[in-house]
Amino acid sequence: MNTYAILGTVISIQTLAYIVAALLFILALAGLSKQTTAENGNRFGIAGMAAALIATVVVVLTASGELMGSRHLVAVLVLLVVAIGVGGAFGIYKARKVEMTGMPELIALLHSFVGFAAVLVGFNSFLLTPGSDSPENAFHMGEVGLAVFIGAVTFTGSIVAYLKLSAKIKGAPLTLPGRNWLNLGAIVVSLLLIVWFAYTRSVAMGLIPLLLLTVVSLALGAHLVAAIGGGDMPVVVSMLNSYSGWAAAMAGFTLGNDLLIITGALVGSSGAYLSYIMCKAMNRSFISVILGGFGSDGATTGESKDYGSHTEISPEDVAELLKGAKRVVITPGYGMAVAQAQYPVATLTEKLRAQGVDVTFGIHPVAGRLPGHMNVLLAEAKVPYDIVLEMDEINDDFADVDVVLVIGANDTVNPAAQEPGSPIAGMPVLKVWEAKRVIVSKRSMGNAGYAGVQNPLFFNENTDMMLGDAKDSVERIVAAL
Ligand code: NDP
Repeated sequence: MNTYAILGTVISIQTLAYIVAALLFILALAGLSKQTTAENGNRFGIAGMAAALIATVVVVLTASGELMGSRHLVAVLVLLVVAIGVGGAFGIYKARKVEMTGMPELIALLHSFVGFAAVLVGFNSFLLTPGSDSPENAFHMGEVGLAVFIGAVTFTGSIVAYLKLSAKIKGAPLTLPGRNWLNLGAIVVSLLLIVWFAYTRSVAMGLIPLLLLTVVSLALGAHLVAAIGGGDMPVVVSMLNSYSGWAAAMAGFTLGNDLLIITGALVGSSGAYLSYIMCKAMNRSFISVILGGFGSDGATTGESKDYGSHTEISPEDVAELLKGAKRVVITPGYGMAVAQAQYPVATLTEKLRAQGVDVTFGIHPVAGRLPGHMNVLLAEAKVPYDIVLEMDEINDDFADVDVVLVIGANDTVNPAAQEPGSPIAGMPVLKVWEAKRVIVSKRSMGNAGYAGVQNPLFFNENTDMMLGDAKDSVERIVAAL
């Protein structure tokens, strides 16, 4: 076979592998939409990524060997092994080390890599393509400009989200004067720079608008996310997920890689849809969040009010209370993840159900620090899916509940969300206070929830505070049952 016949065969195999990979990615998304099929969804995703990676490596190696000779082939092989080795080792190390509570910041960091990669691909493509007068060239340069713009916004936006989520910088929104005009101005300037860049004829001329575009987009990404308050961070993380998808799709256009375009579009659109669902669940304006807090007043903490005194209860007394209850609802939150209390919570559920108590879980859509956080923890501890209910499925039933156990939740059960002017005003919350008794597990009375808002629930007459680490407290309840 001559060189062109070999390359033709390999490229056909690659096209086939890409189609298979794209189908596997679609199956992965479909599988991940339900807990019962999520594991299979994950397997499809891994298989799709493996097929795409192997096909790409085979094509790159064959093309290098056939077109440039064996010395070039060795150099490419070494580069690939180093890149895959370093990337793979970092990925495995991080995935093994990360706690569930650290997932959102890890995801934000990974999005920043996608954004950075899109910027590098854009620069690379520009430096390798000599300018020409043709309309095709202007179109290609436009693609490169867009890839750099979306990539740079994603990069710095994700870095700021990472710093906020890991509490390395303050979670409060940055409210610069005229911030919405600043954002709008940066978007308009970026678009003008992309047009200027698309019509440049040489590398030297093109570099000026490209570098300016990069700087403006980096600043825009950082400012968009810095302007968003802690309560809206879940939506921001999923928006950045969407941006990283569009950045990958733009990189796909730049590289002429169909699979990257398909995968990027899948991630981009599913991330945007998830953000929309979360905005609806939190009663937040989707447009406001994607425009860096547009229209919000930047309130971060409510006024400090005196809600009176609280009452405390021991885990042993909670056990007595639970024994006499007919219907119990457990509403977990971020504190359950911190304490890793899902295992004793699962044992407690099993014990109570064995004694004839009706136990269900009420899950708020943004409980924890990432969408589905509580569902993952409860599934890990083997709590049956059919007793884990979404907020909308349970919110009208609390008046019939004997005891609600709030395990490390705060903002998601905060009645202050019903007070106009509160930073979480309008966010739908679990109406646990309507139950006959409410037991709240948290470590101390000093700390507020993620949004930094005081919680009047803790001072209600029918609420008792079970202070201490959630895992210890629940283990003590189990022992006393
Ligand atoms: P919060 O973050 O509001 O509150 C956590 C509670 O857990 C606090 O009362 C804390 O009190 C308690 N806690 C912490 N550690 C322990 C422990 N070891 N044992 C017992 N209690 C503990 O939790 P929610 O889940 O109610 O709300 C989630 C918040 O996070 C929302 O504001 C949401 O918008 C935001 N968010 C959600 C994301 C998502 O996608 N789900 C992503 C990013 C942010 P103490 O310190 O006194 O123990």
